[in-house]
Amino acid sequence: MLPANVLQQIASASRSGALVVSSDGRVAWANDAFARTAGLALNELCGQPASTWLDALQCDDATRAAVEIGPGTQAFATTVNFTARDGTARWAELQVHAIPADSGAALRLVLLDDVTERHEHEALMQQANAAIQDLNSQFEKAIEHAQQLAMEAAVANQAKSAFLAMMSHEIRTPLNGVIGMTGILEATQLTDEQRECLRTIRMSGEALLAVINDTLDYSKIEAGRLDLEQVEFDLHTCAEEAAELLAGKAFAKKLELVCDIAEDAPRRIVGDPTRLRQIFVNLLGNAIKFTPAGEIVLTIRAESRDGDKCRFLLGVRDTGIGIPKEKQHRLFKSFSQVDSSTTRQYGGTGLGLAISKKLAELMGGTMWVESDAGQGSSFLFTIEAQLADASSTPVAPPPAPNRRALVVDDNATSRTILGRHLRALGFESTLAASAAEADSHLRAGTRFDLVFVDYHMPELDGLAWAQQLAAQKKPAPIILLKALGETVQDPALDGLINKPLKRDIIAVRVHQMLDGKQTAASATPAPAPSTSDTAKLNPLRVLIAEDNPVNQTVAKHQLRRLGYEPKIVANGELAVAAVQSETFDVILMDIQMPEMDGLEATRRIREANPHLPWIIALTAGVGSSDRDEARRAGMNEYLAKPLRPDALQDALVRAHAEVQRLRRTTMAAVA
Ligand code: ADP
Repeated sequence: MLPANVLQQIASASRSGALVVSSDGRVAWANDAFARTAGLALNELCGQPASTWLDALQCDDATRAAVEIGPGTQAFATTVNFTARDGTARWAELQVHAIPADSGAALRLVLLDDVTERHEHEALMQQANAAIQDLNSQFEKAIEHAQQLAMEAAVANQAKSAFLAMMSHEIRTPLNGVIGMTGILEATQLTDEQRECLRTIRMSGEALLAVINDTLDYSKIEAGRLDLEQVEFDLHTCAEEAAELLAGKAFAKKLELVCDIAEDAPRRIVGDPTRLRQIFVNLLGNAIKFTPAGEIVLTIRAESRDGDKCRFLLGVRDTGIGIPKEKQHRLFKSFSQVDSSTTRQYGGTGLGLAISKKLAELMGGTMWVESDAGQGSSFLFTIEAQLADASSTPVAPPPAPNRRALVVDDNATSRTILGRHLRALGFESTLAASAAEADSHLRAGTRFDLVFVDYHMPELDGLAWAQQLAAQKKPAPIILLKALGETVQDPALDGLINKPLKRDIIAVRVHQMLDGKQTAASATPAPAPSTSDTAKLNPLRVLIAEDNPVNQTVAKHQLRRLGYEPKIVANGELAVAAVQSETFDVILMDIQMPEMDGLEATRRIREANPHLPWIIALTAGVGSSDRDEARRAGMNEYLAKPLRPDALQDALVRAHAEVQRLRRTTMAAVA
């Protein structure tokens, strides 16, 4: 047992407040900590009635009762909240312990701990918690709101897409009439003035169609609904075909159009050839539009390879008006043109580059421009593509060893690229910029196996030079490089090649010449069979299922011009009935028709015969999903409206071959 003075010292030094109330209700003892917590001096406690500190602590009746000496010995605990003398709000934990009389006198021990700080802390925590909860609920509400908005946007987007598809269909259908009818009228006897008017109508129709296609494409990309096809195709051919499409426009402006495709760029890749061609056509179209003189060069390079993936750098470079640096930020934005005066001079929707860039991005790349005012422009883009197979690495054709070629072309890019192609074929080439320069090589006694000469050169043109050479002694067979669509026939020439040059064509022509198979006569391609021969050569029984009377007339006239006499029905149900009562080889089936649409009619017809007739879908929709749906329904081919006479002719020639093949297999199966 510790002596009393030690115990008292411990109690005095304790950080907890302690106080003893004796049986007369007065404070017998208190420590400093109690006085400090209660905000009283020690002498205001010791010897004073308990009510002094009970009042100071603003204790309730229960606490007061617990402190009174009575028979009960139960411990009591509470938290008191009081305003101290300095006016601050304070909290303290208070415990009352009864010390029974048998240990001397009956006493009450009161312990007091200041918990103000802890309490304030807890209050702050509570406030913070409440704020967090509040934030949480606001956040949840915001998410709910955003979800609601997204749902509304999705509905609106769907409505917008549906509206656009509908508009596209509604506009294309009459346009089909306009463009189709001009095609038919153009084949009739007309005065020059009428022909000129007709040409304007057709060109305006085609321009309007391009605007509709751009708008539809753009909205599809915006809505994330543009799906790229993944098919195997030849990248080089795709680019060369795009250039070929625009060759006529370039030639009309006397611009040199060149494809500069690196020999080591892989050819066969997996992707969407139609959309890639669309990018090229758009960039080439712009380049031609904004270039008054000079050249346009389409380039393809392989940038990097990783396994069977290849990153390509593609582009179109021109020597045109260029784009000032400070205006380049406007490019690639929808509906934006470099300036409005350009718009007036050149026309356009300002959507082409925005679409092209998005397409390049969908192909895993991007697009940018390098240009300055008056310095020409280079539109460059990258794509990433899977290589189709091992043959993607170009295999050089067997070379023609120790052969020499003379290349005469005033355009440096064109002659350099032809020189490169010829080198790949095993030729050593001499390049000359004019007939005069070529003559000097010939006079120097250089021997050549082949001569390539450009038709259009500023001083002496290629044909005149060839004639001069032929009049003396020809040094070697001469191949004239001419524009697509130009007809040239002359005994001085041994062959013709169209510009823009295609590598494969050069290779074929060179081998033909060296093998001696080519003659001047066969250099000119045989004229295409006249359109009315198509039906004689490819007889078919044709059914047209089309509800729109204008489209019916257009299709009927186009078929008649090819020599076919089609039967026409106005909806799917009638088409099914017609197939049951008569035999048809080919059906041109519109997709959207009243009563029964083309897809349903096809499904019914396919139930009876899975292969025949050959069914060609006609539709104003242009998406790949439309095509997939048509294929799933059992259609064999797909022609977009407005119907182009040449596309229709090609489709029917193909259909004839397919129908023959299918008939043969069916007969073989029956036999
Ligand atoms: P548009 O249909 O108006 O041609 P684009 O998006 O294709 O729309 O082009 C937007 C604008 O960019 C053009 O109007 C023109 O001002 C500028 N531009 C595009 N290509 C070229 C180019 N090769 N040279 C100069 N300016 C160009």
